[in-house]
Amino acid sequence: MSSIQGKVAVITGAASGIGKEIAFELSRAGALIAVADINLDGAQAVADGIVQAGGRAMGVAMDVTDEAAVDAGIASVVAELGAVDILVSNAGIQIVNPIENYAFADWKKMLAIHLDGAFLTTRAALPHMYRDDGHGNSRGGVVIYMGSVHSHEASKLKSAYVTAKHGLLGLARVLAKEGGSRGVRSHVVCPGFVRTPLVDQQIPEQSLELGISEEEVVKNVMLGQTVDGIFTTVEDVAKTVRFLAEFPSAALTGQSVVVSHGWYMQ
Ligand code: NAD
Repeated sequence: MSSIQGKVAVITGAASGIGKEIAFELSRAGALIAVADINLDGAQAVADGIVQAGGRAMGVAMDVTDEAAVDAGIASVVAELGAVDILVSNAGIQIVNPIENYAFADWKKMLAIHLDGAFLTTRAALPHMYRDDGHGNSRGGVVIYMGSVHSHEASKLKSAYVTAKHGLLGLARVLAKEGGSRGVRSHVVCPGFVRTPLVDQQIPEQSLELGISEEEVVKNVMLGQTVDGIFTTVEDVAKTVRFLAEFPSAALTGQSVVVSHGWYMQ
């Protein structure tokens, strides 16, 4: 039996792509799933799919940049499912542009979704992980941030994304120290390129900005540094998140785990 059987997992940005697969993977391990997304219809559809597959799940409307919405969303999860044991802070978007053309509003939007979202969801979830387990100890838990190879490497056109993804390493490391004595672990999972709507949208945009064909964007920009020219998959990322969520002790905490076909080796 999985160690997360019966645990409650909140996954943000889980209406689509990587987050959606994480929701299904953690459900297959027996966790109760809160599918949180700004797109409530999409979140509810994923929750319905999990229930149809035999799991337990709820959809939660949550704009991760909105303090009140995050607090209310986490409160609704606790009211319905009783706890928050696993938080996967995954919601994200991409806006590409060279720095000299990068709109300040876009910069602030990127940092708000990736960094404010990570902070606000963590802050809202922690009291439930720190709460007494009935035997004088904290319940504990795990927080997993969706970083990227861009938590370690830079790419042209991605100033805000690279800045935000680097920032998540800092937050995860602070949480590993603050949460260590209270049973809370934290990690950053760092995927290479994964074919989701977020990446599909970038291929024509990068082709235009860099003046190269879409095939060249995929072959050279996205996969050129991998060992085998292959995209990382949503399943690869979800299995990594599951492994970290199931790991039994703080022997593994404060780490960044790169899943990228060797694009970045730490
Ligand atoms: P996606 O576009 O498929 O899904 C992103 C989800 O986030 C969507 O359901 C969207 O509605 C939701 N979302 C957007 N803004 C939100 C907000 N303010 N509040 C709540 N939800 C919001 O993208 P994806 O590729 O699955 O990306 C998920 C995460 O993985 C992101 O953090 C992204 O940076 C990261 N990542 C993706 C790749 C990749 O190649 N696809 C690589 C590395 C890291």
